[in-house]
Amino acid sequence: RADLAMYQAKASGRNAMRFFDPDMQAAMNARAILESELYKSWERNEFILHYQLQVDSRGIIGAEALVRWQHPRRGLLPPSEFIPQAEETGLILPLGEWVLETACNQLASWALQPETVQLNLSVNVSSLQFCQPDFVEQVISILDRTGANPQRLKLELTESILVHDMDDTIAKMMTLKARGVGFALDDFGIGYSSLYYLKRLPLDWVKIDRSFVRDVLTDNNDATIVRTILLLAKSMGLAVIAEGVETGAQKDFLASHGCTAYQGYLFSRPLPLEQFERFVQPAAG
Ligand code: C2E
Ligand code: CA
Ligand code: CA
Ligand code: CA
Repeated sequence: RADLAMYQAKASGRNAMRFFDPDMQAAMNARAILESELYKSWERNEFILHYQLQVDSRGIIGAEALVRWQHPRRGLLPPSEFIPQAEETGLILPLGEWVLETACNQLASWALQPETVQLNLSVNVSSLQFCQPDFVEQVISILDRTGANPQRLKLELTESILVHDMDDTIAKMMTLKARGVGFALDDFGIGYSSLYYLKRLPLDWVKIDRSFVRDVLTDNNDATIVRTILLLAKSMGLAVIAEGVETGAQKDFLASHGCTAYQGYLFSRPLPLEQFERFVQPAAG
C-alpha cells in the first residue's frame, strides 16, 4: 500500500481549492466524500473480484476478473461507480496492482486442480496503470511472486491506452508476450482508430463490444459491423470473443459468422469466486 500517500497528496491539493458557486461546491463535496470513502475502503480491503465465464464451442475457456467495491452502507458497487474516481485520484494504481496480484494468485491456485488447470483469466488494465514506466516489471514480479502461468493470463487493453506513446506500448506488449502473456483489445469497434490499432499492435484477441452485440439481430448496421469485425480478425489471424451475449439467438448469429468465443449473461453473470468455481467443477461442489 505504498502508493497511498502519493494519491492522497494529489487529491488533498485539489480539495483545498475554493469554489464560490454553491452547486459546484456541493458537487465538490460529494466528490470529496466519495474520494475519502475510497481511501478508507482501500485501507479496509473492501474490494473484491467477481468472475464471469468465457466459453467456446467446447466449453469453458476461462473467466474475466471484474472488480467490485463492497461498500459498508451502499452494498456491492459496480466499477462504473468508482473506477472513474479511482482513475482521477490515482487509486487505480494500487487497486490495479491488487487486481492483478489477486488474479494471478487465483490462476496459481486453479493450476493445482485438474478441473480448473486449463482456465485462462482476463484482467482489465487501466491506461494510467499500463503507462507507468514500471508496468512491465510489476507484472513480471507479480507472476514470479504468485507462480501463475503467464500463458493463462490475458490482459485487456482499451484504445485509451494508445493515445500515449505507440512505440512504448508495443515494446511493453512485446516484453510481456515473450513471457507468454496474451493481450486482448477490449471494447473493439467503439473507438476512433480501431483499425489502426488492430494493424499495429501485437494482439492475440479482439473483444467485440457489447453495444454491437446487443442489437445485432435488429439493427442492420450493427450486424454489418459485427460480420466485418469477424472477417477482419480472421484474416489477420486474431481470435475474437464477443461480450454481452444475452440470448441464444445472438450467439447463433455470431457463430454463423465465424465467432468462436463468447461471454455474457447467457452463460453466466459475473459471480463471486465460490459460485464461479461451482460452475466450473459442479461435481466437486
Ligand atoms: P468491460 O471490460 O467491458 O467488462 C464487461 C462488462 O459487461 C462488465 O461490467 C460485465 O458485468 C458486463 N456484462 C457482461 N456480460 C453482459 C451481458 O450479457 N449483458 C450486459 N448488459 N452486461 C454484461 P462491469 O463488471 O460493471 O464492469 C464495467 C467496466 O469496468 C468493465 O467493462 C471495465 O472496463 C471496468 N473494470 C472492471 N473491472 C476492472 C478492473 O479490475 N480494472 C479496471 N481498470 N477496470 C475494470
Ligand atoms: Ca474487459
Ligand atoms: Ca469489454
Ligand atoms: Ca464494454
